[in-house]
Amino acid sequence: MLLIQNGFCCEYEMNIFINIFFGKEDGIIKTDFFDKNGGIYAKTEIEYNGKNYFGEFSFPFDSGQESERKIKKFFGVCVVRSFIEAAQKIKKITLPWGVLSGIRPAKYVRELKEEGLGDAEIKKILTEIFGVSEEKYKLCKKVAENEEKILENVKNDSVSIYIGIPFCPSRCLYCSFVSTDVKISGKYMDEFCDLLAREIEKTGEILKDLSLSVQNIYIGGGTPTTLSENQLKKILNAINTNIDTKTVQEFTAEAGRPDTITEGKLDVLKDFGVNRISINPQTLNQKTLDLIGRKHSTDDFYRAFSLAKDAGFSVINTDLIAGLPDETFEMFKKSIDKVTELDPENITVHSMCIKRASALNFSKMQLSNAETVEKMLSYTEKVMEKCGKEPYYMYRQKNISGNLENVGYSKKEHFSKYNINIMEEVQTIIGLGGGGVSKIVKGDRIERIANFKEPYEYIKRFDEILLKKEEIKSLIKS
Ligand code: SF4
Repeated sequence: MLLIQNGFCCEYEMNIFINIFFGKEDGIIKTDFFDKNGGIYAKTEIEYNGKNYFGEFSFPFDSGQESERKIKKFFGVCVVRSFIEAAQKIKKITLPWGVLSGIRPAKYVRELKEEGLGDAEIKKILTEIFGVSEEKYKLCKKVAENEEKILENVKNDSVSIYIGIPFCPSRCLYCSFVSTDVKISGKYMDEFCDLLAREIEKTGEILKDLSLSVQNIYIGGGTPTTLSENQLKKILNAINTNIDTKTVQEFTAEAGRPDTITEGKLDVLKDFGVNRISINPQTLNQKTLDLIGRKHSTDDFYRAFSLAKDAGFSVINTDLIAGLPDETFEMFKKSIDKVTELDPENITVHSMCIKRASALNFSKMQLSNAETVEKMLSYTEKVMEKCGKEPYYMYRQKNISGNLENVGYSKKEHFSKYNINIMEEVQTIIGLGGGGVSKIVKGDRIERIANFKEPYEYIKRFDEILLKKEEIKSLIKS
C-alpha cells in the first residue's frame, strides 16, 4: 500500500493497522489532518481494487494545552481511526482494542489516573477516542486496579532479579524467546553455569555496595529445568551465597517444558528456596503438541504437575496459548477446562504470536482467525471468574493474533509481583544470564542494558558482561 499523509504524519502507527487490514496488498491510502477551533479532524481515502472508500474521525482536543507527547499520540489516534473507518468498509475486521497499540494497556490507564482523570473520563478516552470495546475496557480497568495494590508496596531501594537460562530440550516451532536446542548448544551448559555463578557473585557485590534489597528473583529462559540437578544447584547456590534472600518475596523458576521436570530437580529448586514454579502445557491436545514441536505428551504435563504438587510448591503457574495452529474453539476449551480442573494458582493465557524468527512463519499451518481467538479469550475470562481468579497482569505484542492480549489470572493472594513490576516498569530489574535485560528505572526514564543471548557469545564475551554490570551500577547510582 502506498501511504500519502497530509497535515500530520504517523507512518509507524498507520503501518501497524495497514498490515492488519491489507498485509502486502496493493492500493493507495491518503490521509488529511486538521487542527482547529479546539478540535481535531482527520479523513482518509483508500483506493482499492478500482474503488474508493472514505472514512473520517474527529474529537475535541485543545493542542495548545497539551504536552508534545500527548499531542502526537492523539493526532495519530485521530488519523488512524479515520483510516480504520474506511478500511472496515472493505474488510470485516473488528479491533477489540481499537487503536490502542501499546504493549501495556493497563499502564496507560494508570497514567491517566495519575493525571487526575476519573473513571468516567478514562472510560471515555479509551472507548470513544481509542475505540476500545466495552469488554476490553473492563478487563483493562480490572488489571489496572489489581496491579495498583501490588505497585503501592514496591520500595524505592529494592530491585528484582531476572536470570535467563537460554537452553531448551528442543526448539518449539513458534518460539520467539531466547533459547537454543541442547542438541546444538548442550556442550556449553557447564561453562555457562560456571560463568553465570560469577555474574551472580558480581551482582551480589553491586547490590551490597548500593544497599539495595531484592524483592523478587525470576529464573526464566528458555527452560531452566533443562539444566541437570548439579547445574541447577550451582546456580541456586551462587544466588543463596551472594544475594541476601531474606527480603525476597517471590523466587520463581520456569519449568516450562514438562519433559524436563524430575523429582530430583524439583527437590533442588525447593531446597534452595524457589517458591513459585511454571509448568506449561500450552495445549492439552496431543495432536497440536506434536504439530508445534513441543516434543512432550499431555501425560508428561499431568505427571510434572503432580510431582510439583507432591514436592510442596504452593504456587504453580500454567501457560496456555489461544489460537495455536489447527486448533478450534472446542480444542482450546478442552485445554482450559482440564487445566482449571487441576486448580493451579495461576493460569496465563497467551494469544498466538508469530514473530519473524519463528519457523511457524514459513509453514502452511492453519491459524485460528481473530474472531475464534477472541472467543477463546472471552471463554477464558468467564471460566476464570467462576473459579475466583482475577486478571492481574496483561501485555500485548506486535504480530499477536487478532491484535489481542496475554493475560495472567490468579486469586488475589497469588498475584505475581514480579510479573506486575516488570510489566509496569516501576522497579529496576537486573538481568543476568543469556539474554537477560536490565531495566534501570530513573523516574520516567528507563535505561536498558542487555546481555548476549547465545550461550557461545555469553561465554566468549563474558568480560563484557562484567563490564555491563559496572555500567548498571553507575546508572543506578547516577
Ligand atoms: S519451551 Fe518455550 S523457550 Fe523453549 S523452545 Fe519452546 S517456546 Fe521456546
